[in-house]
Amino acid sequence: MSWTAEQKMRLLFALRSKGVTDKRVLTAMETIDRGLFVQGLFSDRAYDDTPLPIACGQTISQPSIVGLMTQALEVTPRDKVLELGTGSGYQAAILSLLARRVYTVERFKRLIDQAEAVFETLDLTNIITFLADGSHGLPDHAPFDKIIVTAAAEDPPGPLLAQLRIGGIMVLPVGQSDAVQTLIRVRRTEDGYEYDELCPVRFVPLLEGLGRE
Ligand code: SAH
Repeated sequence: MSWTAEQKMRLLFALRSKGVTDKRVLTAMETIDRGLFVQGLFSDRAYDDTPLPIACGQTISQPSIVGLMTQALEVTPRDKVLELGTGSGYQAAILSLLARRVYTVERFKRLIDQAEAVFETLDLTNIITFLADGSHGLPDHAPFDKIIVTAAAEDPPGPLLAQLRIGGIMVLPVGQSDAVQTLIRVRRTEDGYEYDELCPVRFVPLLEGLGRE
């Protein structure tokens, strides 16, 4: 069963009221059914503007945060995008409608398998998944036009900064894992990096190594 017109309208209203105004982002979020990415106990809350638990003790991000991060990335149809933290695959699915190609990295095999199944159902063929510790980025596939990190580190990881193309944008939460973090945007220029702060957020931590599940 897919989502109803009313569920869509409620979600879009929540997105707009939290500052997601970019038409392309709103259209992508109206196209991807979040219910496909939330299984079990919490599936009846899939269309609420709230983060929800997924397998392996992780979370699917709050839709308005997904929208704000996607909007801040300024994705174009020519972009090669790197996402760290596939989780449910929801953010990657939205990016896949806006970008040329999405490389998404996750440390839990179980999450990769589940996300891949949904990508297949939706026929999203421009997403490439990687089971790896993404904090080193994907040096073999760099540089990237855009990088999005959906788990929090204390500082922007050096390898990711290095893998951002000049003119590129990276959006990520930074701060302690047990505290409120700050969503920041980094632009790489000819001369270096420019940083700006977007809003307070709370993400699961970016961890080292592979997960056990
Ligand atoms: N973008 C996701 C939300 C992800 S939650 C979505 O749309 O559902 C953050 C994810 O980052 C978790 O699944 C966690 O396992 C993963 N993660 C944390 N540290 C990581 C690392 N070093 N490399 C790859 N993935 C990591």
